[in-house]
Amino acid sequence: MDFDLSEEHQLIQQTARRVAREVVAPRAAEVDAKGEYPEDYFQAFKAADLLGITLPVEVGGSNAGTLALTLAIEEVAKYDCSAGLMLLLSSLSTHTVKFFGTDDQKSSYIGPVARGEKKAAFCLTEPDAGSDVANLQTRARRDGDDYVITGQKCYISGGPNADQVVVFAKTDPTDPSSLSAFLVDTSLDGFEVTSIDRKMGVRGIPTGVLTFDEVRVPAANIVGGNEGLGMRAPLATLNSLRPVVGARAVGLAEGALHYALEFARERKSFGGPLINLQAIQMKFAEMAIDIEAARTLVYQGSWMIDNGRFGPEHGHMLSVAKAYATEMGNRVASEALQVLGGQGYMMDHPLERHYRDARQLMIVEGTSEIQRLIISRALTNRTLNYA
Ligand SMILES: Cc1cc2nc3c(=O)[nH]c(=O)nc-3n(C[C@H](O)[C@H](O)[C@H](O)COP(=O)(O)OP(=O)(O)OC[C@H]3O[C@@H](n4cnc5c(N)ncnc54)[C@H](O)[C@@H]3O)c2cc1C
Repeated sequence: MDFDLSEEHQLIQQTARRVAREVVAPRAAEVDAKGEYPEDYFQAFKAADLLGITLPVEVGGSNAGTLALTLAIEEVAKYDCSAGLMLLLSSLSTHTVKFFGTDDQKSSYIGPVARGEKKAAFCLTEPDAGSDVANLQTRARRDGDDYVITGQKCYISGGPNADQVVVFAKTDPTDPSSLSAFLVDTSLDGFEVTSIDRKMGVRGIPTGVLTFDEVRVPAANIVGGNEGLGMRAPLATLNSLRPVVGARAVGLAEGALHYALEFARERKSFGGPLINLQAIQMKFAEMAIDIEAARTLVYQGSWMIDNGRFGPEHGHMLSVAKAYATEMGNRVASEALQVLGGQGYMMDHPLERHYRDARQLMIVEGTSEIQRLIISRALTNRTLNYA
């Protein structure tokens, strides 16, 4: 078992750390306050070659792998969880094509995302189908050489400013196995951003409702070339990124702990620095234990994915990493805020923002409850066995 990072991993970590400190850190509070998409982050990530970390070299990515993406996200999320999501999105919006698409689709759809020429989004959730993905109602009807897509997707991260999206739809609304994925250019007739969400945190990446009203795409835009990828398409995509959502939480928690620790060194209370109080020291020790445990799970999960272990038989371990790390992020964000007392509650410090941002992580890409469902199923069917 080797826990050392390779030279390539270290290089990506250092690059992301530099961009995080120079570009993300000074802007994070403003991005949150204005709720504006930080195009400057995007351009900095593009210049540093961080947008195609998990994407194929042939189309302009660096194919450095999931652990590399995890390391980069951890660095930027120390300052802004939206920056972590921006890096994650280039994988979330393309992995369905990476796993199931044709060479032409990889080149035309993934290529521009990997090179930072286009922004993309992943459209799975619907107003009446979130956790219950199999029940989604978006319909794709074959019409000659085209498919005509009709339906509505909600809470889509980066959807309001996407140039292209991958959208899941059924060719037979009564049959979950008819689920397919389609590549849609958002300039097409019938595509509309119906509303943009007003949300609690991660305000740098807009989410919203996307409506597809008889959007006509060529049959060549069905991912993989044939109907009926079924549930394995969204599940493989989500599985391939579960620990990476956890990486957003690990970075956020590290940033929160660091900020609170510096504060506790300076703040005077009961005749000395706050950090001299044992009750406060114990809080920091608890936070560090929690972060280290989560980080180990997240790195292990990322390593598993890099070694091809993200099929249904491995999903529970990826769910363990996602659930533990995202819940850890919430615990640490709360405790770090508490260390600042009243000041922690104020917008003069980043901790109330970390606290709001952390809350998203237990919901997206499979809620904590759904992760537990996956883990408990693995226990009951003995895939996860402690005998
Ligand atoms: C900020 C944000 C960004 C998002 N980005 C995207 C995106 O880019 N693309 C995309 O497709 N989706 C996105 N989502 C949607 C997200 O994946 C869903 O919100 C999530 O899967 C939960 O679905 P739901 O909101 O419909 O809740 P529901 O499925 O209605 O669940 C409601 C509650 O019931 C629980 N629950 C549901 N079923 C079960 C069960 N069987 N057992 C136990 N508990 C259960 C859930 O855990 C939850 O607590 C985003 C959501 C948010 C908030």
